Amino acid sequence: LRAAPRLGSWTGFSRLLIKDESVNPTGSFKARGLSAAVTAAAARGVTKLAIPTAGNAGGALAAYAAAAGLECHVFMPRDTPVAFQLEVRSCGARLELVDGLISDCGRIVGERQEAMGWFDMSTLKEPYRVEGKKTMGYELAEQLGWELPDVVIYPTGGGTGLIGMWKAFEEMEQLGWIEPGRRPRMVSVQAAGCAPIVRAFEAGAETAQPWQDAQTVASGLRVPGAVGDFLMLRALRESGGTAVAVSDDELIAASHDFARHTGIFPAPEGGATLAALLRLKEQDQVEADERVVLFNTGSGYKYLETLNHFPQ
Ligand SMILES: *Cc1c(COP(=O)(O)O)cnc(C)c1O
Repeated sequence: LRAAPRLGSWTGFSRLLIKDESVNPTGSFKARGLSAAVTAAAARGVTKLAIPTAGNAGGALAAYAAAAGLECHVFMPRDTPVAFQLEVRSCGARLELVDGLISDCGRIVGERQEAMGWFDMSTLKEPYRVEGKKTMGYELAEQLGWELPDVVIYPTGGGTGLIGMWKAFEEMEQLGWIEPGRRPRMVSVQAAGCAPIVRAFEAGAETAQPWQDAQTVASGLRVPGAVGDFLMLRALRESGGTAVAVSDDELIAASHDFARHTGIFPAPEGGATLAALLRLKEQDQVEADERVVLFNTGSGYKYLETLNHFPQ
């Protein structure tokens, strides 16, 4: 968790913080969930793992499977940036490129897993990924002296980051580590070309309808439907938070602004949190002296094709 005074003065927020998840192994917060999930699966005798991925989850699974010596099968959309593909193959996993989205990849894993003897590591289909991601919530409290910030802005795809942190806050309240009733407002950011949670939030719905023709360069956000949609929507509402959609041009421009004012080269998903903060500011939804945390969920180095573009 890093103070971001220059980005803070540029945006007009005096206590702006960045949770920089790009420094995790394999360059994204996905390492948190998949290290826990692979450890738990290996301890129970699982030997073959499979995962549908928008990019980072496949890389993290391939890496931890390599470390544990487990067989690994990764299904990824064909147009995922090349770094994600190379990382998986380099770690010795079998990579299958799919003409479609993560939801199509998930369908293939579901269809083949029984015959192939694979264990399905999809988001929220096993219980340990969310336990690993929960550590983001614990760290926020620990690194702020056992207080939580006022606002957390998180780029949302499958939603385990949000769901995991919300679970962590609940647990820490029960443990007596933090004061009850002082949780942050949770803000979900999605890309305008794939925003099922934003649409459901605005409609007051309890679950989200799948998004048709999902399109965004922020591959981690290209998740047209999420099994945990109701958990995300519940957390956003219970927290008094909101959901924001930003365009690809906005999130790419914001990625460069983010880097220019912090020295952190963010994933486009991380840039999206800055674009969302600017939107919330326009709408007077955040006070200038509130403690706001932007989550940079991954490293810009995996998205060179995407970030080699400087919108005006
Ligand atoms: C997976 C991913 C997301 C979305 O996170 P969820 O917890 O699945 O909602 C955001 N950013 C990056 C870089 C990702 O890899």
